[in-house]
Amino acid sequence: MTGQHPVEIDTSRPHPARMYDWYLGGKDNYPVDEAMGRQMLALDPRVPVMARVNRAFMHRATRWLAGRGIRQFLDVGTGIPTEPNLHQVAQRIAPDARVVYCDNDPIVLAHAAALLRGTDEGATEYLQADVRDPDAILEGARKILDLTEPVALSLIALLHFVPDEDGAHDLVGRLLAALPSGSHLVVTHATADFTPEESKAATEKLKAAGVTLALRSREEFTRFFDGLDLVDPGVQVPHRWHPELGEPVAGQDDGVIPGYGAVGRKP
Ligand code: SAH
Repeated sequence: MTGQHPVEIDTSRPHPARMYDWYLGGKDNYPVDEAMGRQMLALDPRVPVMARVNRAFMHRATRWLAGRGIRQFLDVGTGIPTEPNLHQVAQRIAPDARVVYCDNDPIVLAHAAALLRGTDEGATEYLQADVRDPDAILEGARKILDLTEPVALSLIALLHFVPDEDGAHDLVGRLLAALPSGSHLVVTHATADFTPEESKAATEKLKAAGVTLALRSREEFTRFFDGLDLVDPGVQVPHRWHPELGEPVAGQDDGVIPGYGAVGRKP
């Protein structure tokens, strides 16, 4: 692991990685995360299903990529380890797959050991870094990835925590600029398009607790893929992207899950 320093967990306010862990039924969260999680559930009881649907999208996109010969993965905003993790999905198909994980939350660093148990043929690495510092991410990634060969860059349920003021689209562009033709971008993102009232209430509650939520429209989401070729079936609500590559999530129906998912290929 790189960027190591003593782990300090701030339990005075909710953190996205820990709230997400609570939605998934994990144990790595604190009362403050559960309390905010319950407020989100009061606005929309489907939030835990959404978290699992999002996770299942990551599994299917990773299978799709590994099935097309992608052997290098750079996953930013990884979250607290939840089995199966991306490297396990990829290495089941391609044991030699190399995976670099990256998150800025100290709790993910504290649990990163679980992200580093991969196959002997492959490799995994964990970076403690912020997506707003793409140079640091690329420098760390180069330690085990060959950036002259295609890389799948995944930013899954991350970019809605990065507001336009921080240059979200530009940051993605800078990461992609360092990757060669044949690389892919994988993104899921929450939107207010389907549930404007609940989304507004959720954004306000999170803001009051110190968490920025930057919901984006379909058009703003699609702009992350500027210059790339969107892979079929294009921009979808996540569970409608290649459903044949996995099992439906318990409780999932075709009601609206307020988010988008897509994969694009760098020409
Ligand atoms: N990608 C995982 C986890 C999503 S939760 C999944 O889809 O299952 C969002 C994650 O993004 C959290 O772990 C949070 O700590 C991380 N995150 C939020 N802002 C970040 C930033 N600026 N830089 C890096 N990671 C960030």
